Amino acid sequence: MKLKDTGLNKEELKELSEKYIIDTYERFDFIAETAKDMELFDESGNSYLDFYAGIAVNSAGNCNEKVVAAVKDQVSDIMHTFNYPYTIPQVLLARLICETIQMDKIFFQNTGTEANEAMIKMARKYGVETYGADKYHIVTAKKSFHGRTYGSLSATGQPDNGCQIGYNPILPGFSYADFNDLSSFKEACTENTIGIMIEPVQGEGGVHPATIEFMTGLRAFCDEKGILLLLDEVQTGWCRTGEIMAFMHYNIKPDIVSMAKAMGGGMPIGAICATEQVAKAFSTGSHGTTYGGNPVCCAASYAQITELLQRKLAENAKNMGEYFKEQLTTLPNVKDVRGMGLLVGVELDNAIALDVKHACFDKKLLVTAIGTKIIRMVPPLILTKEDCDKAVSILREAIEESIK
Ligand SMILES: *Cc1c(COP(=O)(O)O)cnc(C)c1O
Repeated sequence: MKLKDTGLNKEELKELSEKYIIDTYERFDFIAETAKDMELFDESGNSYLDFYAGIAVNSAGNCNEKVVAAVKDQVSDIMHTFNYPYTIPQVLLARLICETIQMDKIFFQNTGTEANEAMIKMARKYGVETYGADKYHIVTAKKSFHGRTYGSLSATGQPDNGCQIGYNPILPGFSYADFNDLSSFKEACTENTIGIMIEPVQGEGGVHPATIEFMTGLRAFCDEKGILLLLDEVQTGWCRTGEIMAFMHYNIKPDIVSMAKAMGGGMPIGAICATEQVAKAFSTGSHGTTYGGNPVCCAASYAQITELLQRKLAENAKNMGEYFKEQLTTLPNVKDVRGMGLLVGVELDNAIALDVKHACFDKKLLVTAIGTKIIRMVPPLILTKEDCDKAVSILREAIEESIK
């Protein structure tokens, strides 16, 4: 839809939004009308350089041609049918994903938080059926983010964050340990612990990658104790960090891994992959979803993943991520630049992240802020050195202005 076809102007559209939409988002003053590759366009055709990619979703570029074509094709064949019949895109996508990331089985959901619900449910059911009724405890990390529905929210170790305040009682059976601190995780485990659940890079928590020692230490500890290693790769999955999945950096495999964001290229889809043994916890009737595995979303995901792999966008994420981070360290008032691949955080000396974000927006660069000091950037993985240079020069001006 285009604004000019509605008979409304921008202010009128914004008023309608304020009148009718329950708004929990801090909005940019901007109508995103169309998008292509690295750019979003407003209703007047102004171009914005996209360094957030719909929160790490549009990894093969905005409105990727192959994804758009796959959606258009599938939408006129069959849009939805529920999971009683087999559908072709779902089965082919299942094979593509399982073979690509070397996991045995997949279950499709619609979003990241739903994928994590499935991961938590599968782990608990496996624990209770394998070891007994008390084996349901899960340890997650402080400052983690796993989603907004009750299970995922309960796994999220941020009791003081707005995403949890006011929602008690949250689900019992979770404890929170310090990220990148193996002994803290070991101490948090009890004889009832069935799972340790972490993000390979804490995104919302300020862009902190897990260290090699921490990740491999967790894997070894889990193996020793019969605990499942549950990885939330909703944000890190599908090439973002410079490998197809972030766990590949660590040379380990999870028992269950969740994914969403980039896998659909803009269509809502999520999934968990599990080992054969753990996947057996789910059997007929034990879990389900109306839309999960929807043929249009699966066709989009198949096209998206094929693009990511064929264009070697994991490699580009690695190379451009290194280049971008190097350039970012030359900026003023920067305390730390961190991340993996193109999941990048810039920590500033001063609490000016929101000002910098708005100043960037005024200069037509789209970035997001975490808290008051961190700028987070998750651009499409197709980006070039020129895109990096442009973003860095806008950030430089934005920081200089905000510091005054
Ligand atoms: C975004 C995100 C989620 C939640 O995904 P939704 O699709 O928004 O439900 C969960 N975990 C991580 C690590 C995320 O980045």
